[in-house]
Amino acid sequence: MTVDHKLNDFFLDIIFPNRCPCCDCFIPWNITVCEDCEAKLSEYKALSGGIISAYLYKGIVVDGIYALKAAYGRNFARHCAKITSPLLKKDYDFIVPVPMGKKQRAARGYNQAEIFAGYLSRFTSIPVMKNALIRVSDKKQHLLSAHDRKINAEASYSGGLGDIDGKRIYLADDVCTTGATISACTNLLYAAGAKNVKAVVCAKTNRI
Ligand SMILES: [Zn+2]
Repeated sequence: MTVDHKLNDFFLDIIFPNRCPCCDCFIPWNITVCEDCEAKLSEYKALSGGIISAYLYKGIVVDGIYALKAAYGRNFARHCAKITSPLLKKDYDFIVPVPMGKKQRAARGYNQAEIFAGYLSRFTSIPVMKNALIRVSDKKQHLLSAHDRKINAEASYSGGLGDIDGKRIYLADDVCTTGATISACTNLLYAAGAKNVKAVVCAKTNRI
């Protein structure tokens, strides 16, 4: 982390005191998760497998993801990026966040996949490309059955404007439950000419 980022985090902490994303307790400005939660989180490590993931989506990991979606939990994205970034190959060309629909983004004010991608980029120096994919439908995945998620995911995204021909890409998202979104986005990136696509998430279910 550069001095600028550190200073930024320090001053932000004066205005918005730093909190643990998993239990909401106050923590020092320069850490991302409290000691107790860090110990508990280690029970859910999930670094192996086809999709790179910091954790399994269970226990207090679910609280961390919830905090990330509810604005005060950027720390969880940073914490998961710290864990997963050493596994990323530095010669990949871009980190592409799974995009969010315009309405959803306007309501939340940010895309949590972009926040995670930003931290991954900070730790690996691989640039983020935001426009490689576009979300064309706002229909929410979690209200659907696994079968319908696959169909909805395929209809929800389309290729974007970024030139990814022959590029190696890390696709970043906060959570992967059925794999429908990751698989739809991966297929689109390959269709646009990507040479290699590998997904990186904060948490995944053990079905993936
Ligand atoms: Zn905690």
